[in-house]
Amino acid sequence: MDDIRKELFYEQKNGYDLIDAQERPALEGYCRDYMDFLNNSRTEREAVNNAIAMAEAQGFVEYEPGMELKPGMKIYRNNRGKALMLAVIGKKDLGQGAVIAGAHVDAPRLDLKQIPMYESDEMCFFRTHYYGGIKKYQWVTIPLELHGVVALKNGEVLEVSIGREPDEPKFVITDLLPHLAADQMKKTMKDGITGEGMQILIGSVPYADEGKDRVKLAVLSILKDMYDISEEDFLSAELTAVPAYDVCEIGLDRSLIGGYGHDDRVCAYAELKAIFDVEEPERSCVCILADKEETGSDGVSGMQSAAFDCFMEDLCQSQGVALRRCYEKSFCLSADVSNAYDPLYPEVSEKRSEAKINYGMGISKFTGARGKSGTSDASAELVAYLRRLFAEKSVVWQLCELGKVDQGGGGTIAMFMANRNIDTIDAGVPVLSMHAPFEVVAKFDCYMTYKGVLAAYSDK
Ligand code: MN
Ligand code: MN
Repeated sequence: MDDIRKELFYEQKNGYDLIDAQERPALEGYCRDYMDFLNNSRTEREAVNNAIAMAEAQGFVEYEPGMELKPGMKIYRNNRGKALMLAVIGKKDLGQGAVIAGAHVDAPRLDLKQIPMYESDEMCFFRTHYYGGIKKYQWVTIPLELHGVVALKNGEVLEVSIGREPDEPKFVITDLLPHLAADQMKKTMKDGITGEGMQILIGSVPYADEGKDRVKLAVLSILKDMYDISEEDFLSAELTAVPAYDVCEIGLDRSLIGGYGHDDRVCAYAELKAIFDVEEPERSCVCILADKEETGSDGVSGMQSAAFDCFMEDLCQSQGVALRRCYEKSFCLSADVSNAYDPLYPEVSEKRSEAKINYGMGISKFTGARGKSGTSDASAELVAYLRRLFAEKSVVWQLCELGKVDQGGGGTIAMFMANRNIDTIDAGVPVLSMHAPFEVVAKFDCYMTYKGVLAAYSDK
């Protein structure tokens, strides 16, 4: 009776109704490894360092310009410790194009100012300048860790990490008690906590002397003991406060993962695992871990940087191929997270078009805002290609867009890849509470995103 409906209607199914029970251990194993990676990758620099260590263990070697490239070779290029490009050389030359997956490893956070430290009323603070789009009220009264580097005048670079280990101290931005918050509570959520108000408490015990700023002096002497630095060294530091939550399973059924920085390390990890697992690809596979996506992809380590073109041009030259010929035949998955439909906030979504938890890898034909402004908008042909590919490789996926028309919007690196004349489409994991200090993703969708990238890499 319902045959005609089956034939004509498009119905989506929950991913758990679509996969075999035999696939569950692989899914759980993948997610355990991802949780480990996320726990130890709190900044783009740490993500890049960890990715390089993993890649070297898989036989990847650092690429040197002029290196002879043979099919099956595994190489990487480290862009200033903040971004990374990896490639597995295919059987076909780069004139046939590359299969590219690009994710970003930066995430919203609280950067310290360049002259961050001050004492007020015998308490010591770091002033911050937030990075990326955040709802500021979410970042107060939560435990914070400090990560980053201090570059010394003599050229030495010190790596800083305080608060990740269980026995290390953490930091916090305080908030007003409700008893005295009557005026604050009248403000909008946007203005209740201000950018300048986001100051991190870092100490309270005075130095044992009679001079001024005794608490600040005591804190500086602790830093002197730990890193042999002085206040002036903050001028050339990149230090950032990030949430100190451990990555953990969420829900009685343990089906979800909570943690800081899923956007977009969840897709970065999927790409990495996929490029490690691809076997003797036909076309060369390229994996990008980009920086600066959250602030517009500008700068030397962002996706608008020529660093990517230089790397690809080097590879092309070694095969006697023109870069532009390679680009016009390449295909790129811009691997970035999407919004997951949240039943608590149905008013911002058009349910049929929003990504759903446990419905698999999200594919966005376009991103942008206000009449598709700021998007590359992938072609129908490209979506058709993915329908075919994912059906062949049993990848559970869903088509999605971000929120209702005119509700808002967002961008990814997709347009910067497409502007290079590379066919590009957005693909990634749906996220609940995106850009919050503690974001949530579904294990199923993480695993399917890995399978999706692997399917693209493995395609003939
Ligand atoms: Mn993102
Ligand atoms: Mn983001």
